[in-house]
Amino acid sequence: MKFGDSIREIKGIGEKSEKLFNKLGISTVEELLCFYPREYDIFGRIEPVLNAKEGSTIIVEVSPAERPKAIRRGGLKIVQCRMKDAGGTITAVWFNMTFMMKLLHMGTHYILRGRVINRNGILQMQQPKVLSQQEYISSIDSLRPVYSLTAGLTNNAVSKAVKAAVHEADFESDFLPLDIRKEYNLIGLKKAVKAIHFPKDKEECMEARKRLVFDEFFLFALAINYMKKNKNKKTSNFIMKEHKAAEKLIEGLPYKLTEGQLNAWHDIESDLASGSIMNRLIQGDVGSGKTIIAVLALYVCAVNGHQGAIMVPTEVLAVQHYNSFNDILNGFGIKTGLLIGSMTAAEKRKVYSRIESGELDIVIGTHALIQEKVIFADLALVVTDEQHRFGVRQREAVSAKGNEPHMLVMSATPIPRTLAIILYGDLDISIIDVLPTGRLPIKNCVVGTNYRSQAYKFMEKEVKAGHQVYVICPMVEESENMEAENVMDYSGQLREKLSPDIHIECLHGKMRPSDKNDIMERFAKHETDILVSTTVIEVGINVPNATVMMIENAERFGLAQLHQLRGRVGRGGEQSYCIFMAGNSSKDIMERLNILGESNDGFYVAEQDLKLRGPGDFFGIRQSGELDFKLADIYQDADILKAAGDAAKRFTDDVLILCKKYDSLRKHISSYTDEIFL
Ligand code: ADP
Ligand code: MG
Repeated sequence: MKFGDSIREIKGIGEKSEKLFNKLGISTVEELLCFYPREYDIFGRIEPVLNAKEGSTIIVEVSPAERPKAIRRGGLKIVQCRMKDAGGTITAVWFNMTFMMKLLHMGTHYILRGRVINRNGILQMQQPKVLSQQEYISSIDSLRPVYSLTAGLTNNAVSKAVKAAVHEADFESDFLPLDIRKEYNLIGLKKAVKAIHFPKDKEECMEARKRLVFDEFFLFALAINYMKKNKNKKTSNFIMKEHKAAEKLIEGLPYKLTEGQLNAWHDIESDLASGSIMNRLIQGDVGSGKTIIAVLALYVCAVNGHQGAIMVPTEVLAVQHYNSFNDILNGFGIKTGLLIGSMTAAEKRKVYSRIESGELDIVIGTHALIQEKVIFADLALVVTDEQHRFGVRQREAVSAKGNEPHMLVMSATPIPRTLAIILYGDLDISIIDVLPTGRLPIKNCVVGTNYRSQAYKFMEKEVKAGHQVYVICPMVEESENMEAENVMDYSGQLREKLSPDIHIECLHGKMRPSDKNDIMERFAKHETDILVSTTVIEVGINVPNATVMMIENAERFGLAQLHQLRGRVGRGGEQSYCIFMAGNSSKDIMERLNILGESNDGFYVAEQDLKLRGPGDFFGIRQSGELDFKLADIYQDADILKAAGDAAKRFTDDVLILCKKYDSLRKHISSYTDEIFL
């Protein structure tokens, strides 16, 4: 069985389950093999009942403390029995398993494994499995894969399919040369794939992960290096000499550009005039003022008689940029246009024709810019904002709309320069390392839910003082539909708690894009005081009058994401506040969140987070959004990234040869870039 074969080739997958797998984005054997577990169910060892903690899974050895009881609740037949060991008791509960009544005998010992829940203040074991001595011993310390599922597909079914695929797939010979594997202590590909799904123990799991993370970085770096090699110092069709106009724009701004902004701008100016194609990354922490740099570049491009475009990851952000571009460029004689997916077909057609005729100087949009129907008359500069939200491929797709236009990408991902050079190896880098002056540092507090009513009072006070507030709603893990309900419930409750003249609106991912845009626009205009939202507001949003950010269930987010969320406040001259509310205030959680409490510096946060988690602790929360890796995390795996980057350098000249030899390698690399056609 080949990697590229359909999953239908796998024993046990028929038409029906194929459809379900397709829903998860899996149609080939390889995609199934790369469908890594979301986490592992760690089978522990017998523990005293007293160790039972809400939310955890525990194994206990107990005997009934009383005769089991059968009760009915709703349509459920429930068997309930208080169980004891030497130190304490816990109630075990089984649903629709009346046979348990006969199975449990007084005086007999049972090994039970189950999840501990809190029911009305009392800890219970829910639906525990009764294990034989032998089952227990053979499972001790084992890890079982837990997959992200879709309705109709069980964890067991996925697990079985993967097992069959691992067994039957032809893993070519390993594409990583043996000397590299030896040098970096990496296990073979087949062994790694098998072990990431079905690890013997934690150690083997780590080894597998190391190899696969290395692969992800290695292939990515190969693709990037290959692109760089082809791109280097290509002569540009658009040499832009006319820069005086920019100075006038800068003078007219209501603020002075920071040194970091000026340096970045000068880098761009000289790139544009140099005669070569610009490929530049602007890296600057949230709030460092990257937008104005994009405005300047696009403005100069327009003054030189060409078209430019800026692509952003969300519609909300596109609308916001469109408005602020128009504010800044007001009176400068520049024609701007907006292009987003939620516009009507007629509206879009109008914009298409204004782009094609060359009437528009600057186009601001989302992925909609990549659409086939978008044809530029003279595209000379492409900017992508929040680059980490896009793949390299999308970045390339817009640029293909022009005749080798200049490229400017902007990112807030705080990564050390050494790593940025690998991840953005095909780009030159300018760093904006200072925030605008006159910003008061955000005041942070990390609190438990008992602080909630005080937080509400504080929000009320800030609103009365004329400011605005974001509340990031508790996260719901199970289903996306629940997310919407959850945000609406929460804002309903908030309305009841706060004074009625405070205007609250809510925002979530399931809304129609045009509704989202309207809500965001009302918030930007201060028609709304409090915005209750899911993380959809995370990227790029700029409402300087908002001074409070409160994040519920902060423990469920990665620190990098929390830092991005916090970056939505502290964008104006007023004192801003960020309240991190932990739904569970255990010591570890508070320690992790306190990193954010200590510092507003993205680099520091990333660094401390890494220290705390330690490389290789991948049972922790994965940072989200950072480039598109399946397993790899650029912070946590910084060392592997460095190693893979070094290794890839040695192969840059052989990329094509390697790709010819290994089909799966070619596919992987070309998933990052279209440039490799073989
Ligand atoms: P980000 O880097 O996160 O994209 P933005 O470009 O959205 O940041 O800028 C954040 C805010 O800071 C905006 O309101 C912008 O007008 C303002 N700003 C940008 N540069 C300066 C500056 N040099 N001095 C003061 N305010 C600035
Ligand atoms: Mg921004």
